Amino acid sequence: MAQQHNTFGKKSSQRGSEKAAFHEARWWEAEPNGKVHCYLCPRHCHIGEGQAGFCFIRANEGGKLVSLGYARPAALQIDPIEKKPLNHFLPGTRVFSMGTAGCNMGCFFCQNWDISKSRADQVRSSYVPPEDVVMLAIRNNCPTIAFTYNEPTIWGEYVVDICHAAKEYGIKTVMVSNGYITREAFHDIYDHIDAANIDLKAFTETFYGRTTLTHLQPVLDTLEWLKNETNVWVEITNLIIPTLNDAPAETRALAEWVLEHLGPDVPLHFTAFHPDFKLRDKPRTPPETLHAARAMAIEVGLHYVYEGNIYSDGAHTCCPSCQAMLIRRSWHDVEENRLVKGCCPKCGLAIPGRWENADAGIPAASSRRAELLAGKRYGELNL
Ligand code: SF4
Repeated sequence: MAQQHNTFGKKSSQRGSEKAAFHEARWWEAEPNGKVHCYLCPRHCHIGEGQAGFCFIRANEGGKLVSLGYARPAALQIDPIEKKPLNHFLPGTRVFSMGTAGCNMGCFFCQNWDISKSRADQVRSSYVPPEDVVMLAIRNNCPTIAFTYNEPTIWGEYVVDICHAAKEYGIKTVMVSNGYITREAFHDIYDHIDAANIDLKAFTETFYGRTTLTHLQPVLDTLEWLKNETNVWVEITNLIIPTLNDAPAETRALAEWVLEHLGPDVPLHFTAFHPDFKLRDKPRTPPETLHAARAMAIEVGLHYVYEGNIYSDGAHTCCPSCQAMLIRRSWHDVEENRLVKGCCPKCGLAIPGRWENADAGIPAASSRRAELLAGKRYGELNL
């Protein structure tokens, strides 16, 4: 699920406006009628001159598709990696997290609707080119950058360029995504990504159609491509909303699909809903619902099933073989990590995940460069 964020202050907006420029998009084609066809996501918008697509931040300017979100983050924040949520990827580390305006879904329950339902010119943003994002991450001692808060697919050009810059400094990258992307764009983006948390918002087409204004199958396709065609470390989040997607039969079907198509070792996070945006008439998810969902998914055969947005023992990582406690968490804090080289210290089972580099630190030369560049240009950002 999208995590809540802090947006920029006024100063950033003023400085950013001096550098406004259109960045030509990828994943589009011109049409004879003057429209452009964007094929980045399954909406396949056909966009007239001067208009924007459903996501607000891809627009037809003079017969070309431009990305209004490129180098224009509307939210920058340092988070724990567990907030993404990723429980098997560099646990206990900080992640430099960023998002822009706009979204390609229309979720009634969005927790970041202030940016996701805004056009680029309706949010305060700053001009932050790709290499500067990496410098900011290094300066803030973050080994990872997360593309998150709104849907990063829709600013895929910026994501890819940040990934190129990040690789030069050994910084990892994470997509926190709704998984709504086309086959044509999938590898162009995910071939550069180290880890992803994909929202599987429900397991019925009815929910996707009515409550997110999209479709289920493209998200399932993305999950299978990730598993079968990339090296991306993948975890899944299912936000459980009372009466809309909390039927035990639906939860069981979702868990069975994950087991059959992705295997038992893909972590699945059941998280609690709270009323927001257009969905304020539903109650918070009772903890008992999450407990029951987790128990069912484990019974189905999944090895790593978590509960989120509540305090719960379901936040810990336990060995599926001998049940030993491996990583003890409280909300997003790692209180104890007993893994030994990625293995259970009691029975020796290798636990799937990316556990390396968690303590590698940032090279001193990179830190000095980041301090010089980012300190001078972005000293006023309150991260
Ligand atoms: S990325 Fe945006 S403009 Fe492109 S198809 Fe999706 S919603 Fe439409």
